[in-house]
Amino acid sequence: MSEKTIYQQLREDGLSRRDFVKFCGLLSGMIGLEFTATGKALGAAARRDAAGVVAEALKSKTRLPIIWLELQDCAGCTEALSRSLSPSLSNLVLNRIAVDYQETLMAAAGVQAEEAKRRTMEKYRGQYVLVVEGSPCLGLDGAYCTIGGRSNLDILREAAAGAAAIIATGNCAAFGGLPGARPNPTEARGVMDIITDKPIVNIPGCPAIPDVTTGVIAHFLVMGALPKTDALKRPLAFYGHTIHDHCLRRPFYEAGEFAEDFGGQGAREGWCLYELGCKGPTTYNACSSLKWERGLSFPVQSGHPCLGCSEPHFWDGGGFYQGQSAPLAKPGSGATGLAAGAGVVLGAALAGANRVGKRAAGKKTAAPPKAD
Ligand code: SF4
Ligand code: SF4
Repeated sequence: MSEKTIYQQLREDGLSRRDFVKFCGLLSGMIGLEFTATGKALGAAARRDAAGVVAEALKSKTRLPIIWLELQDCAGCTEALSRSLSPSLSNLVLNRIAVDYQETLMAAAGVQAEEAKRRTMEKYRGQYVLVVEGSPCLGLDGAYCTIGGRSNLDILREAAAGAAAIIATGNCAAFGGLPGARPNPTEARGVMDIITDKPIVNIPGCPAIPDVTTGVIAHFLVMGALPKTDALKRPLAFYGHTIHDHCLRRPFYEAGEFAEDFGGQGAREGWCLYELGCKGPTTYNACSSLKWERGLSFPVQSGHPCLGCSEPHFWDGGGFYQGQSAPLAKPGSGATGLAAGAGVVLGAALAGANRVGKRAAGKKTAAPPKAD
């Protein structure tokens, strides 16, 4: 018997036609379909709007199998996802039409769980998406992280070999994250430093924004391919702007009003947090536009500087609460290292430009300039 389409599956699970149409609209918005060239072309060819393109895809496609590995991690990205306040969307995408194997969330454990993974790898070879959370590590041939007696490198390489694409979620999987902080005893790396022959997208953050992870999965589900990325393999739809670009404290930055301590008048009045260490100007992520908890808030809005958690090696970038401390970590090897190097140059250049401009404006040297 042939597999049911996603639409058939959802209808059998009790989703009404009306809710299906709503779901397709949400999904198309989430993946920004109406803004992509492919999405526009598909819509024009089929004479449909973006939601119609999604509906058509879900009516013809069967569910997308996903294997989700956790390597050196704290499960923070899984935690964030499971506590996301948009359960209808995340639940539908992840539970009903996607994930086959997820160590933290699945009901099975031990031998049964491993058997489920093996079955998925065999049955859907070349078709499933591999999501990796946590960093792989090279030290002692991967012995620092073993699961069921096998090294993380073995497990990663085996699952990657049959994957259609890989999504590295969280800073750990993308760039090494916390386990990769100096002195990096386990030799943690980003997945892209180890697997080099598969399409990979990075969704860095600590944790990754749940809606971004779901959005990228949804993109693959509908379009059959990963979204366009920047040089660090981050999806442009979510990482095309800095935190600073959409920050609600930006008017204070422009006016040269900077909070000097957390308890002071500036902090109470919502002034810019740059002097308290905010890395918003050099950090690419969707926090200030998408926000967290269904658009409720994000760290800078809540009074805490951006730590730059979606940038490579942000743990080693100096004091989190030190103004002007753009990431200065010595880059690691491979692609991550090169990318980090580029980030350092950009960060240093921005910081320098800020200082010069600020001095010219006759303000304190530690603060950024007023924009033209
Ligand atoms: S990226 Fe951060 S939150 Fe996610 S697993 Fe790694 S340490 Fe935890
Ligand atoms: S420096 Fe930080 S707090 Fe200030 S405007 Fe930019 S992102 Fe917002």
